[in-house]
Amino acid sequence: MRYGVISDIHGNLVAFERVLDALSERDIGGYLCLGDIVGYGARPNECCELVRELDCVSVVGNHDLAACQPGKERWFTPAARACILWTREVLTDDNREFLATLQATATVGGVELCHGSLADPEAYVTMPDETLSSFALMEQQVCFFGHTHYAEWYVQSEAGKLPVQLGAAAGGTLEIVRGHRYMVNPGAVGQPRDRNSQASFAIYDADNGSVEIVRAGYDVATTQQQIIEAGLPENMAARLLMGV
Ligand code: ZN
Repeated sequence: MRYGVISDIHGNLVAFERVLDALSERDIGGYLCLGDIVGYGARPNECCELVRELDCVSVVGNHDLAACQPGKERWFTPAARACILWTREVLTDDNREFLATLQATATVGGVELCHGSLADPEAYVTMPDETLSSFALMEQQVCFFGHTHYAEWYVQSEAGKLPVQLGAAAGGTLEIVRGHRYMVNPGAVGQPRDRNSQASFAIYDADNGSVEIVRAGYDVATTQQQIIEAGLPENMAARLLMGV
């Protein structure tokens, strides 16, 4: 079975629809979502509803938490805080309840899911040593994570050993090898930060034992217009074109 792996949609409906369109041609049997469905972008309700319509297992992201729990935004940058306060206002009760029910971790299809790390949905994994707490907790061979908005993976050849970090900002395929363990970030659907403005996602093939990271260009201008029209900080629109 093949899974579509999506993360950090961040209320970017145009990018999300483009990714689902690309996945619809790839014989996908289920979807795995690594959180941050909302925050930054101007279409949080529509993105929640699309995730809910999919056959999708989702874990919670820090922006999803902040959308439901007043006070959580105090750690955010001023611009991110402005976005989450707006999101909290427009979110329907239904979608707020949906976000509030999401768990921090999940195991499905033989892989583990988390937002930041297996230990903490709000921890950033950007360096090999930052993966070690997750590898120590991992019970499966592969763990998918998000949060940093970088498409990349870490390969650990031996328990306790520092993994090798491999960037995949232009996409790529990872062949899962027996005896090795992996932490894989599919990159962000809605706000890539690896200097590639194209939406990022992954296809996990549980039968072949492979993960493909795919980039898909979308209509950034429409998303930017929606952000401006909603009165969200202009930088949230500008950064999308730069992929930062
Ligand atoms: Zn995020």
